[in-house]
Amino acid sequence: MSSVGMHHELYDILGVEVDCDQTEIKKAYRRCAKQCHPDRNPGVDPDLFKKVSHAYEILSDPQKREKYDKYGEQGLHGTNNNMFTQDEQQPYDDLFSAFFGSSFDDFGEKTQNSKGENIRHVLPVSLEDLYLGKVINLSIERTVLVDRKKKGRKCLECDGKGFVTTNRYIGFGISQRWKSKCKNCSGHGQLFRTKKERKVLQVNIERGMEDKEEIRFEGMADETSPFIKPGDLIVVLEQKQHSYFSRVKNNLYIELSISLSEAIGGFELPVETLDKRILLIRNDQGTVIHPNMRKRIVNEGMPIRDKPTERGDLVVRFTVVFPPDHSISEEACARLRVLLPGIPRSSQVRVDSDRVVQVAICKELSSRQEDFANSEQPTFSRKTQKTEDSFCVIL
Ligand SMILES: [Zn+2]
Repeated sequence: MSSVGMHHELYDILGVEVDCDQTEIKKAYRRCAKQCHPDRNPGVDPDLFKKVSHAYEILSDPQKREKYDKYGEQGLHGTNNNMFTQDEQQPYDDLFSAFFGSSFDDFGEKTQNSKGENIRHVLPVSLEDLYLGKVINLSIERTVLVDRKKKGRKCLECDGKGFVTTNRYIGFGISQRWKSKCKNCSGHGQLFRTKKERKVLQVNIERGMEDKEEIRFEGMADETSPFIKPGDLIVVLEQKQHSYFSRVKNNLYIELSISLSEAIGGFELPVETLDKRILLIRNDQGTVIHPNMRKRIVNEGMPIRDKPTERGDLVVRFTVVFPPDHSISEEACARLRVLLPGIPRSSQVRVDSDRVVQVAICKELSSRQEDFANSEQPTFSRKTQKTEDSFCVIL
């Protein structure tokens, strides 16, 4: 048969030559319909399935095919060739069902193209686990098929079609019809016998893994049908709060309280690390630690993934605890005035000036006021250092 002057658009849709035989048309439809059925291939343009079905409908019928070959789509006037109106998928689905059977299991090849839903499992882990690495045996219960080879029973919810049709009245005597995947059988048209199975998974927590990091176990979610690949089980690590360390990426943070005399005179503070070593944090006399000062200890943070020998830093924030009211004797104060640098400011003020008003500073700010006063400073601490306010401004 010569292809000159013939219409070929429908042949192109199925990807066949204009002079192909019925077996080839059937084969082509089988291949194309599988690839573009909207229930099986979410995301694919649903019109494509309609086009494929329409092409097959015409070309598989010798009389219609002859008309089409001679006159094109125009020649098919009177046949069911109005393709893109509401509810038009129904006849094509019926054709599809007639061709492949009421469900997808008659595709000939039992491929597992679609995948089931993933399951997320939150696993609480300690900061030590993330620091040292650990293998945790996680016991899970999952649904599995009793027999993979056994045919399922027809889903009564969708009558074995795999989809349900819903009517919605939208007013003025018009109602809208649309189809959706049957939830009861997940679109397979069949239901399969399942059972619960307990399984122990080995969750390998690598050194330096982070909070909310995911470890994937492929195909370990529930089995619902032999035609659907089970989804993945995703273990989500959730780091438990540590009693004194906090973490941001590869760095660890700790808050240490020191006394005023330690801030001035030096100190040695022992801190137990996550791998149970004792770090002796030392500050020699001569270097003064100011309140809220932060110091970095290099390479004492979290291990860095994929670089087993490297670690982040440990950042120490110091709170300086001042002595409580009236805890230092008058005599000691007098000595401190001499020992500590700086001349007491009271001696610089001319008290006889008319503009000077003496005010006491015994009242402490409430925490709300304090937040307001400190609003432009970083709020790092969980313990608030109470300090005497000193709003006495010397003019
Ligand atoms: Zn169903």
